[in-house]
Amino acid sequence: MFKSEYLNRVYAEVERRDAHEPEFLQAVREVFESLELVVDQHPEWEAAGLLERFVEPERVIEFRVPWVDDSGRTRVNRGYRVQYNSAIGPYKGGLRFHPSVNLSVIKFLGFEQVLKNSLTTLPMGGGKGGSDFDPKGKTDGEVMRFCQSFMTELYRHIGQFTDTPAGDIGVGGREVAYMFGQYKRIVDRFEGGVITGKGLTFGGSLARTQATGYGLCYYAAEALKHLKNDSFEGKTVVVSGSGNVAQYAAEKCTQLGGKVVAMSDSQGYVYDPKGIDLKKLFDIKQKRRARISVYADEVPGAQYVEGCRNIWNVKCDVALPCASQNEMDAEGAKTLIANGCIGVFEGANMPLTPEAIALIQGNGLLYSPGKASNAGGVATSGLEMSQNSMRLSWSFEEVDEKLQGIMKNIYQACYYASVKCGKPGDLMVGANIAGFLKVAEAMMAQGVV
Ligand code: NDP
Repeated sequence: MFKSEYLNRVYAEVERRDAHEPEFLQAVREVFESLELVVDQHPEWEAAGLLERFVEPERVIEFRVPWVDDSGRTRVNRGYRVQYNSAIGPYKGGLRFHPSVNLSVIKFLGFEQVLKNSLTTLPMGGGKGGSDFDPKGKTDGEVMRFCQSFMTELYRHIGQFTDTPAGDIGVGGREVAYMFGQYKRIVDRFEGGVITGKGLTFGGSLARTQATGYGLCYYAAEALKHLKNDSFEGKTVVVSGSGNVAQYAAEKCTQLGGKVVAMSDSQGYVYDPKGIDLKKLFDIKQKRRARISVYADEVPGAQYVEGCRNIWNVKCDVALPCASQNEMDAEGAKTLIANGCIGVFEGANMPLTPEAIALIQGNGLLYSPGKASNAGGVATSGLEMSQNSMRLSWSFEEVDEKLQGIMKNIYQACYYASVKCGKPGDLMVGANIAGFLKVAEAMMAQGVV
């Protein structure tokens, strides 16, 4: 499958051992396709078994999470933490609470996180965790009891110098706060840097909530400017999802002159030709925690369509997939291409199938992988940890300015790596290679560990 015998051998072994983990295999394959361009220049990697170690998580933790619902019934969920790679810093990566969570999903997210964190230039290794618990439809009391039980097991595996979780799908400010409270109670220490995405009154950073979505738009704006001499100004934009990343991607690209005409949730999408009313969206999603369909009920001229995958039928210049993995397949990509879209920038992790990526890149559209364009969230988590350590708080403007600088640097690192390996402008290859080289150097220096 790969030209390099070494890559073939390592991948075959991953496939043999983890045959039942499709998302994880997909993520490894994509990265190996990029490493193909550099692996022959580094015979020392094979001699040191570097890739064999790189694909294997340092530690996988799986645990029982028992909790009691409001009717007094005992429920049991499964919890995970994959501590993937600590070569360049303590493990860092979010927690996802969603019924689709399993080991394959957490391993693919952890694997991607290693490269993403490397790209931020901050000293953070990669990890990821979560549970198949579904916060939807649960009361605050149920969510609190679940989070407390989850942390009652997780606390022994984390710490500000060991592993520092954050949010992801289904884990926002409410869940992070419950988990932080339980951690603090168990260890009897106010260890702010143990988890990020905290509330502003107890060590959270201004602009962390906005960071992933804003960072995505900063990265996309940089690519549009550098590769197409263009911008968001006057562009029609489709943003999938309507959670944390999608909401703030929609806000920032609107501020940059774009018009967001469609957004979705897992049930369907709304189309508003006038441009999504962000105040209304925030009210529906942040205050009422309601379905996206409510938007069409309350905004004249907006339309609701069942089925979230069809959102790519809406004609746009720029597409920002911000919901979940594999949400855009070949059909979606073909429709975007036929409708004249010029760029697809991933806000979610691995939202495009390999077939969709091949079509998007093959037809000359700009494309950026999530591990580069959504790295603003974890980068700002890194800034939250810095503020916790220094016992001070930066202003919103200070954090936002640092975020813009980081996203610009990530873009440049991806672009220059793409040039160096003979594929100028291929930001996927650039992200994979730039992220990997730093981790590889640290792993080589630290010996066989
Ligand atoms: P949220 O839980 O806030 O929002 C998720 C959104 O995606 C919701 O609108 C949800 O709809 C929708 N969604 C979830 N699963 C599916 C699915 N299988 N098909 C279609 N839609 C789906 O999560 P975030 O916004 O935090 O995360 C979104 C993506 O961004 C994820 O891939 C995450 O890993 C990635 N990411 C997040 C970061 C962060 O800082 N939060 C950082 C970097 C990446 P519904 O409400 O109906 O479930």
